[in-house]
Amino acid sequence: MRHNLKRPIMTKVHNFSAGPAILPQEAIDEAIEGIRNFKGMGMSVVEISHRTPEWESTMAEAEALVRELLGVSDEYAVLFLQGGASTQFCMVPFNLMPENGKAAYLKTGTWASNAVKEAGFFGNVDVVASSEDKNFSYIPKNYTIPTDAAYFHITTNNTIFGTQMHSIPDSPVPLVADMSSDIFSKPVDVNKFSLIYAGAQKNMGPAGATLVIVKKSILGKTGRKIPTMMDYNVHIKGESMFNTPPVFAIYLSYLTLKWVKKMGGVAAMEKRNQEKGAVLYAEIDRNSLFQGTTAMEDRSLMNPTFIMTKPELEKDFLKFAEERHIVGIKGHRSVGGFRTSTYNALPLESVQFLVDTMKEFEQKHA
Ligand SMILES: *Cc1c(COP(=O)(O)O)cnc(C)c1O
Repeated sequence: MRHNLKRPIMTKVHNFSAGPAILPQEAIDEAIEGIRNFKGMGMSVVEISHRTPEWESTMAEAEALVRELLGVSDEYAVLFLQGGASTQFCMVPFNLMPENGKAAYLKTGTWASNAVKEAGFFGNVDVVASSEDKNFSYIPKNYTIPTDAAYFHITTNNTIFGTQMHSIPDSPVPLVADMSSDIFSKPVDVNKFSLIYAGAQKNMGPAGATLVIVKKSILGKTGRKIPTMMDYNVHIKGESMFNTPPVFAIYLSYLTLKWVKKMGGVAAMEKRNQEKGAVLYAEIDRNSLFQGTTAMEDRSLMNPTFIMTKPELEKDFLKFAEERHIVGIKGHRSVGGFRTSTYNALPLESVQFLVDTMKEFEQKHA
């Protein structure tokens, strides 16, 4: 919820965008100050060398926050890279899949499908299970992970389809996860994973930075020649500054993580996200005009998706919501209806306001 300065000063905006998405107001405010005058240097954060001690200490604090919030041990490197999660779709097999090797993938949505496609350029991809048969509306449960795969890749939250893995499978091979849209939304046992990656712009910061948490011992084993910028070991050695890092994106991510810590860390975020999810899903289930699109047990706490029982009212509801400054709720074209993303920074108050709007719309059309 935010004052929209282009509108009269008391207008509140409720931002349900799927990504780039809402960030904490105080992180935005502090970033504005850093753009003006970074650490009292009389220069903007985007004007200074990334080799200055002032920047290097912020970079180190950003890494320390990731380690502290998620409980990341020294066995893992924490990297801030560029290229978004989409570049990780190819960087992961480049670094982990041996020549003529095999990797296993769980196909749970559009992003998972993109990851499968990229891995196919490097070797054999074993899609162990897919929910494509029902338009990715559930998370497959009973499948066997092949023990001869180099790794097993999952997508913990399916941003477009509104499903989330509420339990992480035990994998006999290194587990790799795309956590772009639910990282820092709840505690996670990093030790179960060999590699975690996330584009910043869903729950961590603005677009431009990509977080990678990688177990150092799994690298350097494929026998492949890896181009310099694609090689995790190059970035580990360069401490995420082999080349110029995306300074502003890392800075605002750092400020966002500072806010997460101040609010009580990822356990507090989980509680906050569960509260929002409970309020919103209760209304989706109660309201005669709306219905959820996914299996109940796989519902996402980050991207609730729903359609209308009378599809002809969808345009009207969108307009009705927009008049109340509820923005970013139009569903992705592959699902239709609505997607109301409820990332960490979105307050319960905005969810409550959306629910009240849904109730009001129901009364109008009863
Ligand atoms: C948004 C998203 C991506 C793509 O991220 P980019 O940073 O735009 O490449 C990949 N995976 C998931 C789960 C996402 O939500």
